[in-house]
Amino acid sequence: MAQIQGIKGVKDVLPDEARVWQHIRNKAREIFHTFGYSEIIIPVLESSELFLRSIGETTDIVEKEMYLFDDRDGKKIALRPEGTASVVRSFVEHNLSHSLPFSKLYYIGPMFRRERPQAGRYRQFYQIGAEVFGFASPQIDAEMLSMLDLFFNSLNIKGVELQVNSIGCPICRPAFREALRNFFSDKLSNLCDNCQRRYELNPLRILDCKSPHCHAIAEGAPKTLDYLCDDCLKHFNTLQDCLKLAGVSYNINQRLVRGLDYYTRTTFEFVSGSLGAQNAVAAGGRYDSLVEELGGPPTPAIGFSIGFERLFSNFDSSSVAVKLINVFVAALGDKAQEKAFQIINQLHKKGISAITDYDGGSLKSQMRKADKFDSEFVLIIGDDELSKGVVIIRNMKNKAQEEVPITMIVEKLEGIFKTHDSP
Ligand code: ATP
Ligand code: MG
Repeated sequence: MAQIQGIKGVKDVLPDEARVWQHIRNKAREIFHTFGYSEIIIPVLESSELFLRSIGETTDIVEKEMYLFDDRDGKKIALRPEGTASVVRSFVEHNLSHSLPFSKLYYIGPMFRRERPQAGRYRQFYQIGAEVFGFASPQIDAEMLSMLDLFFNSLNIKGVELQVNSIGCPICRPAFREALRNFFSDKLSNLCDNCQRRYELNPLRILDCKSPHCHAIAEGAPKTLDYLCDDCLKHFNTLQDCLKLAGVSYNINQRLVRGLDYYTRTTFEFVSGSLGAQNAVAAGGRYDSLVEELGGPPTPAIGFSIGFERLFSNFDSSSVAVKLINVFVAALGDKAQEKAFQIINQLHKKGISAITDYDGGSLKSQMRKADKFDSEFVLIIGDDELSKGVVIIRNMKNKAQEEVPITMIVEKLEGIFKTHDSP
């Protein structure tokens, strides 16, 4: 029969890689908890209106990339392309601002965008993200960046550079937008089709264009920081002071405007030199009016999301020590197999990982399998051992082996793994 293949741009994470993902996820959870964040688990399906209203109708995501469908009752549904809008929706819907003076939340999960699949760009990809609601102070911006810095360092990720910028607020941005329009007005015909549209609707996004041609044209464009109002400038300067206090190194990138419409003031990206064109490992910024725009009370907020696949490709997987299994039981013959079944059953209850080969086979083939599972110990039970009431326990590292009474084996292994685990 013909094979059925996975969908283009949507990949399987096989067990060897999934183990490394688990390690990275655990590290994220550990560090985020240190900073007082709680996990929020948000749905993959949302009403499409949520993203139309939050991300912006003229963004790439909404214009070209969203997976949309009509539900059976005609309701317009989207597979979420990002996490922030969903977290904000949930924050507003459940009145989280009433129960806590401020909220620090993180999420981990798949996002969906119908982009052209290529290195670092998938149609289903994973993000680890976080949002903080309730603080306007740039100190939280710096704290968040310092948390990301710590996270990347804890994974020993090298060569990521933090870039920061401020794109101002509704008071100062209109003047900047006008300055950009003036600058591009006589260069319009040289810009790509997308940027020609952006010129009318949101000229800031020309600065974000991935086309090298538009990038070159935008070289001498007005700079955001020159147009910030006093409050925004002070905010940005304090952010930089705090980053210095926290020992987080950064560079200013005045073209960093981000592709989503909801950002205000601080924007940032962690970029990696080794990732080529898709170089942003993590990105985010402040979005002080989004909660209100989605029907909530005025609430300043900031967030980021890390692209898991891009983080993974910058991570040295060999640094994650994986021991697949503690004990492999090699049983020879039906009687021995019955014993093996009992032994692993008892080991599982003690929290010791143990497997046996229910298909049996020769000792040689079973030992080969034990090796494949990188098993620490092998128990061997054959007719001889059964008649003597013992099992052979073999340490696969130093190859030492001894006979142990069957009745004592679980206790013995328990002793071994208890001392293993204690610090
Ligand atoms: P890019 O400029 O790379 O398209 P973006 O501005 O669309 O990124 P965000 O929406 O801010 O990205 O998403 C945050 C992070 O998620 C990105 O920095 C990136 O690491 C990751 N990411 C975004 N799109 C994809 C994708 N299609 N496949 C894999 N990772 C992605
Ligand atoms: Mg994108």
